[in-house]
Amino acid sequence: AIDGPAAAGKTTVGRQTGFHLGYPFLDTGAIYRAMTWTALHRGVDLSDEDALSELATSISIDIGPPSPGSIEPCTIFVDGEDVTRVLRQPEVEAAVSLVSRVEGVRDALVKVQRDLAGRNSVVMAGRDIGTVVLPEADLKAFLDASLEERARRRFVELSAMGIEVTEESVLRDLRRRDRIDSERSLAESLGISRL
Ligand code: C5P
Repeated sequence: AIDGPAAAGKTTVGRQTGFHLGYPFLDTGAIYRAMTWTALHRGVDLSDEDALSELATSISIDIGPPSPGSIEPCTIFVDGEDVTRVLRQPEVEAAVSLVSRVEGVRDALVKVQRDLAGRNSVVMAGRDIGTVVLPEADLKAFLDASLEERARRRFVELSAMGIEVTEESVLRDLRRRDRIDSERSLAESLGISRL
């Protein structure tokens, strides 16, 4: 279980660890992104928590090995459709933290992640894998880096994918997501649904 904030290096370390152990690597951020893209694509109102929760329980999310040449560590399917190439679009990037903080969405997606981990030995990365999703994991690691360094890495990564962003806009977006994600983590550790 590899935990840590966005762009801290979880995917790079997770992919290599999976390769050395011979286990698949699951990037759980991609699962939240797939859910977010599906909500945007199907025109679900992102402020409607009930509609988002209902969507999260009704879709089927599955994972496969990466396609040849893809820089993503795994392929993600929603209801059988490969959605991997849309997961890093700026609209998804901007909305994913809002969708991820809905309790019903988290409950449904934590279940998806536990089911995937229950099938095989895996390396799984995210913000809450060692704490919430797989508290009994054999090995837990927490990765971190400064906001500026994380923004630099994410900017290089997005630019390489041909996605047009500036380093400032990436830093602003990460700062906003850090705030939303950490408020959520604090709420979870205090046992309340929302701060
Ligand atoms: O890791 P990545 O940047 O792809 O994650 C995208 C978003 O998905 C995060 O900002 C967070 O809101 C959400 N997420 C989450 N729990 C996880 C993984 C990701 O809430 N385990």
